[in-house]
Order: sequence, then structure tokens, then C-alpha cells
Amino acid sequence: MPASLPLFPTAVVGSFPRPEWLLRAIKEFEHGRMTEVELSQHYDDAVKLTLKEQETAGVDIVSDGEQRRFSFLAFVSEKLPSFKIVPVKNLMNKEAMKLAEEMNLPINVISQPVITDTVERSVPLALDEFEFAKQYTEKPIKVPLIGPYTLLINSWNRRLSSSAYQGPYDAVDDIARTLREEILALKKRGAFFVQLDEPGIGNFVDYRYTRFLLALNEWKIRAVDELHKLAVEMINKVLKGISGMKLGVHICRGNWPAKEKYLSRGGYERMITDMLEIKAEQLVLEYATKRAGTVDVFREHRIEHEIGLGVIDVKSKRVEKPSEIVARVEEVLKYLDASQIYLNPDCGFASGRPWPVVDRETAFTKLRAQTQAASALRKEYR
Ligand SMILES: [Zn+2]
Repeated sequence: MPASLPLFPTAVVGSFPRPEWLLRAIKEFEHGRMTEVELSQHYDDAVKLTLKEQETAGVDIVSDGEQRRFSFLAFVSEKLPSFKIVPVKNLMNKEAMKLAEEMNLPINVISQPVITDTVERSVPLALDEFEFAKQYTEKPIKVPLIGPYTLLINSWNRRLSSSAYQGPYDAVDDIARTLREEILALKKRGAFFVQLDEPGIGNFVDYRYTRFLLALNEWKIRAVDELHKLAVEMINKVLKGISGMKLGVHICRGNWPAKEKYLSRGGYERMITDMLEIKAEQLVLEYATKRAGTVDVFREHRIEHEIGLGVIDVKSKRVEKPSEIVARVEEVLKYLDASQIYLNPDCGFASGRPWPVVDRETAFTKLRAQTQAASALRKEYR
């Protein structure tokens, strides 16, 4: 365990834009002009650079920037043979197409893991990434891991997964066990913070993307809101009884290269009572983007969780002023204790390799503004 954290600890959510030379190396590898060993050295270097940049920006809880992953979701199929990576365009049907068009989804660039065999942790999912990163930093490390509900709703497809699991609910236990085993392995090796990424829950703000996934994967459910219970039950099944490390759940509204008007919009009002049932110490939430709701939910409910408060918009190139970050935190301090608040960007800076919105330099500058805001707050509220 690291030395104790300061008040208003600063963190990242996970991903960081990949260096240009890494993107070029990946292309070289894909064209057969680079060996896997050479490429893995590039990945190693990119992780070292990312850790260093986060440290220089003053981040208290760092990550490896997800440099090795294609995306926060698809990396599951890069690791586990129970899943196959499938381009979303190959799964499309008439109803999914209609919904995709309404949201202007970039279906030609998205791929997702699909269950094709019994789900089990035949190899580590993130442990290897963590083992590497911890050699190069003394800072506490956050390991982002896909959340069980988001994984299930993306990966159980009636056409391709029925031979492994007749219905989506039949895969729940195996998915939960797989992620739980990963977290326990990370705990054993000293990971400070594991964060389950659940944009699937964030999508409850307006249900549009949820309806798209239900159509795409041909799920038959009575009402969309039955998914709220499923999501919370799955998370709690994964986390039950695990102590001695920080566990968080990141609930965001999606993060890809679409025009703002097509992205989901709204506050957490619709699912806050379910969110508060989540047995994790920290909820990592979006509050910086203009599409986010207000902090009214904090006034209307008793919040016992720590809140990883999104104070940096990862989809805007404009760098936040420390003073505006301080003001955002102070609004929340009306309802929460200072010791409950962590500062982080709304989401990863590049949750998918091909679609970072801001470049590395901007991401760095934004993280530095976040640190400056935390320093100002610490002076005020020690
Ligand atoms: Zn996110």
C-alpha cells in the first residue's frame, strides 16, 4: 500500500493518447514488417512515457494509460479466447441500423468482443499490465477493468453466443467469476485501485445506446429498466467481500468520436438509487462535459461512497482553468465531505486507440490544471 494520499487526491480514469510512433509501429506490425517482440518493446516504452507524464503533471493515482489495449472493452477479446473480436458492422440488422443512424454511430470503426465459448480466466486480463507498470512508478496505480454488465450487454449475441450460453443471463456467473479472479490476483500483487468501467450503466441516462445494443445482440427483455438491477447485481457479485484495496466503478456516458449532439446527455437521476446499491468504495462520475447533469443528485440522496468527480472534459481541446475546477468542486462540497472527493477527468483520454479527441500535450496540460486545482483546494480545506 502506498503512503497515505493527500486530501482531494488526483487520479486518471485510465487511458492516455498513444504516441504517434506507437501507432506507426502497430501498423508496421499489422503489415508483417515488425515482429511481436519489437512491438512489445514499443508498448513498454509507451507505458513508461505515460507514467512519467502523469507523474510530472502531479497525478497522485496513475495508470498505464491502457497503451496496450485496442479499447477499454475490446482488449478482453485480445486476451481471453472465450471471446472473439467482431466488427460491429458484421452484427448489424435492420433495427440496429435504424438506431445507429439516429445516433450517427461510427459503426465502421467499432468492434466488440462477442462470447463464443465458456467464459473463464484462462489467462490474466490486466495483471501483466500492472506487473509491468509497477516496476516504473512508486505511485499508487489504478487498474481499469471492464465492468461485468457492460461486458455482458456488449458480448452476448443471440446468433454467435447461444451455443455457449442459451440466454444472456446464463453467462452472468461466469463473467462475474472471471473478473473477480482477476481482481483477487491484482490484489495479491499489490494493486492499489481497481476500477470497473461501466459505460453500460451511464447509457441509462437516455437508453438510446442501450436499445441499440439490445437490437444488435438480439436480446429479448421485458423492459429496459430491468437492466438496472442486473447491472448492480453483477457488480456486487464481482466485488463481494473483497477488501484491502480500493474498488471503484466508473459510470460514464460513452466516449468516442461523435459530434456532441449525438452523444448521450443527462444526469444520473434515473439510476442514482441503483448506483447507490453498488458495493464499491468509489463511484467515478462525469461532471465536466456540458452533457452531464447537475450535482442535484448529491443534494437529494445521502452519498456514502467516495466520488471520483469528473472535472476535466476529455472531449474538448480547451484546457480548464484551475479556478473553474475549484468552483466545480466547491459546488459538490455543499453536499459531500472533502474527504469523499477525488479529482479526475470525466473519462479516459483515449478509451479506444483510434479515437482520442485531445492530443498528448493537451491531456498533459489538463492533468496539470487538475493538480493545480487540488493544491488550491488543499490550502483552503485542510
Ligand atoms: Zn468513461
